[in-house]
Amino acid sequence: MDKKTMRGLMIYGKGDYRYETNIPIPQVGPDDILIKSEGSGVCASDVKCWHGASSYWGGDGIKPWVQAPFIPGHEFLGVVAEVGSNITEYAPGDRITVEQIAPCGECRFCKNGQYWMCQPHQMFGYFTEFNGGMAEYVRIPTKRAKIHRVPKELPLDAALLIEPFSCSKHCVDRAQITPNDIVVISGAGTLGLGMITYASTLKPKALIVLDMKDDRLEKAKEFGADIVWNPSKVDVVEKIMEMTEGYGCDIYIECSGHPSSVAQGMSMIRKLGRFVEFSVFGEPTTLDWSIIGDKKELDVLGSHLGPYCYPYVIEKMTTGEIKTNGVVTKKFDISQWETAFDYATGKYGDIKVAIVFDEDK
Ligand SMILES: [Zn+2]
Ligand SMILES: [Zn+2]
Repeated sequence: MDKKTMRGLMIYGKGDYRYETNIPIPQVGPDDILIKSEGSGVCASDVKCWHGASSYWGGDGIKPWVQAPFIPGHEFLGVVAEVGSNITEYAPGDRITVEQIAPCGECRFCKNGQYWMCQPHQMFGYFTEFNGGMAEYVRIPTKRAKIHRVPKELPLDAALLIEPFSCSKHCVDRAQITPNDIVVISGAGTLGLGMITYASTLKPKALIVLDMKDDRLEKAKEFGADIVWNPSKVDVVEKIMEMTEGYGCDIYIECSGHPSSVAQGMSMIRKLGRFVEFSVFGEPTTLDWSIIGDKKELDVLGSHLGPYCYPYVIEKMTTGEIKTNGVVTKKFDISQWETAFDYATGKYGDIKVAIVFDEDK
């Protein structure tokens, strides 16, 4: 390649984010693939990291997790620009994406096939060795990365959702929805919408979506929700009790990240029901735990990342069975990263905000 440097966002430390135009393009080792980034979604976690959360940078008794300097962006994809001498499966021009996790392959979880819970838990977009997609080129170490092909015909606005929607699918799969279930999904942001469009294909008895924003509820309907309610306007627990003869919903999926949504879910779920938690919370949730055992004997499940979900999501997005339309609401050039991150907080009503790389720049 003639080009030696690239544009991108470098993070040197907590609060030290710099847009740079002369970042050296990564060298390609024998087992590496270099891709030209098409762009990267801005995740809520990117914003939290930018705001200096201790779960990333340490403090408050927590050890730092990230390893600066690094280039952020884990919801990315691109076109292969160069391959190392050992690479035979991919060639320049192929369109690929990688899972967020870069499994070590050696820990107990990796050996059991549970790679998404890999003990060292290194991820693209947070580590020096695993720079993310918010720069023009990204080095993919194939010995560590989980790589997936992306069809050329899949529009970029859809392809930018492969990572979050794979997380959505895994979360919904944890809920084991059957046609007899009344399912409630709380939160209709990017992850929630991914859950709604996938869950609706599983044809539950009813799919109910809760969100505090009416425009998101409209989108939820378009994506397959049967009923949508705004908890700031109606008593959603009472509504569920009315429609279930006082029993409650069978499944409650929490992806709003608000402690009140947890308490609400625990109240509206039936005895022996299933509660699935996806969110990352900004504050602790307080709850009388007797409801889990003594009162309802619930199955409370967690969900993290989107293991074994990428091929399915990519295929169904391409056929249109998984909807993606209108989820990416704004795209910015990397030079405007600060505006992009600000919009990604959702304070201006956006759902998914993305950084994209325009060929001409
Ligand atoms: Zn993310
Ligand atoms: Zn591992």
